[in-house]
Amino acid sequence: MAGALIVVDLQNDFTPGEPGGALAVPDGHAIVSRVNELARSERFELVVATRDWHPPDHSQFDEQGGSWPVHCVQATEGAELHPDLDRHVIDVILDKGQHSGSDGYSAFEDTSLAETLRARGVNSVTVVGLATDVCVLNTGRDALREGFHVTVDREGTRGIDLEAGDSERALQELRGLGATIT
Ligand SMILES: [Zn+2]
Repeated sequence: MAGALIVVDLQNDFTPGEPGGALAVPDGHAIVSRVNELARSERFELVVATRDWHPPDHSQFDEQGGSWPVHCVQATEGAELHPDLDRHVIDVILDKGQHSGSDGYSAFEDTSLAETLRARGVNSVTVVGLATDVCVLNTGRDALREGFHVTVDREGTRGIDLEAGDSERALQELRGLGATIT
């Protein structure tokens, strides 16, 4: 069974500190060493890193009537991958949420990810990254819907938890849909 590691949105704007931090996930930077460990483990046929990659006037931003502060604007430092993420082991960088009307909550939304994985014979994915209760959840759901075996590595994720327990509920939902939570 060929597996892929999907590193969701491990970007400066989603981790505390400068540059970035526009929409920081609490403790988000704490997953970097676990993500690097998994990415270097040679367990995976393919390592994919996704980036939220929005135009400056994206419909998701609060100034456009959306629900989030401005974050991950294309070609800004905030949108870059976290500097401590090991670039050498990333095979594919996949941008999402590139157009207004495409939220990009899932790595499979308006991207060629499913085709890319199938072309490499991948039938199982391990999902890590940020945030557990938004983009990890939506990526996991879509991966299951696309027929992949899905594992979420807890140590490699952190959530926003706008409401206490959101991340835990997200993991339980994925488990209920057939994912393995490790
Ligand atoms: Zn976004």
